[in-house]
Amino acid sequence: MGECEVCGAKAASKKAVIEGVVLNVCENCAKLGKVVVEKTYVKSGAKPAPRVPQNEEIVDDYSEILKKKISQSGMKYEDLARSINEHESYVRRVVRGETMPTIALAKKLEKALGVKIIADENDEK
Ligand SMILES: [Zn+2]
Repeated sequence: MGECEVCGAKAASKKAVIEGVVLNVCENCAKLGKVVVEKTYVKSGAKPAPRVPQNEEIVDDYSEILKKKISQSGMKYEDLARSINEHESYVRRVVRGETMPTIALAKKLEKALGVKIIADENDEK
């Protein structure tokens, strides 16, 4: 999508670093620089293994943890939802375990409730 920022061609399908700047470029112009994002599979071993910046995962029993904490604290869903800027219905679904929270939401819930529902995976160490 978008135009090539080098030659103006309509089909900028790649991102490449050209002279230190990341540009949306077309197939041809990508050859001028170092391709950083390619939608098609990379042929050679040029691409380093993608590193996931965060290995954070929601724990399996997040629903239990949240439910327990909320009932203990007597906090209303309405107030909880407001304090973390989310819809009450969404928060309820998450607490019931029907919807997996995103990491961002999980962090907000952790903060708001003083619980831990994100597991840091340190397997690599
Ligand atoms: Zn181009």
